[in-house]
Amino acid sequence: MRHTADDPEYDWPTCCACGRDLWHTELGRHVCRICEDKTAARLTELPALFTQLNTIAALTRGARPPEAATSGSRVPPIPPRLDVLSLTAAGGAATRLRDIEDAWRTELRRTAPSWTVAPWRGCPAEAVPEHVRFLVNNLPWAAGCYESIGQDVEDVRHLHAECTAALSDDRRPGRVGVGLCPVVLDDGLCAAPLLASAVSHRIRCGNCGTEWADMAAWCVLRRQQEAAQAGEAA
Ligand SMILES: [Zn+2]
Ligand SMILES: [Zn+2]
Repeated sequence: MRHTADDPEYDWPTCCACGRDLWHTELGRHVCRICEDKTAARLTELPALFTQLNTIAALTRGARPPEAATSGSRVPPIPPRLDVLSLTAAGGAATRLRDIEDAWRTELRRTAPSWTVAPWRGCPAEAVPEHVRFLVNNLPWAAGCYESIGQDVEDVRHLHAECTAALSDDRRPGRVGVGLCPVVLDDGLCAAPLLASAVSHRIRCGNCGTEWADMAAWCVLRRQQEAAQAGEAA
């Protein structure tokens, strides 16, 4: 199949992910070392990005008041972050990584039947680090021997870009609205919009200065908001 270098018909082999000519030392590989290194770096970052996305998903999920309470209330529903939910829910990042792992395992089993262990099947938060571990460990094999690796390099690049974009989507990067401040001031409810960051557990009201410092305090905040909302609706 491959011609010799002095053959005029010779097509120098290229990386099937980025298309550049392979170096002499890379001949026989499907993707170049640069693409392999970038893919490894993106994979390695995914679990931390996924954890932050789950935090936002949990915040926006909990922040939505029941439909019945929204009419006439000053507490608006939090718009669901569809980009975040599509990555964290079933069919999201975990499924996309699992599909790559499945394909690699099928190919590995074809060449070495000892590869019989099925991929991790758990909730997405548990599964993502497991899939990433498998893919990083076997990436050198795939870069060298797996014909469809170019598509997977591209898929990982897309997934990483989607996660990064979802985390910086708000007007204020990495921040998400979590409802209105429930603190009662002298002239009534503070009701300033509260923002949570995916990288810090501290929520601070920019109007009255009240702080909710950690996850436990967020539960208190949620109860306070529900109580404020019930007061409004009554
Ligand atoms: Zn490349
Ligand atoms: Zn406030």
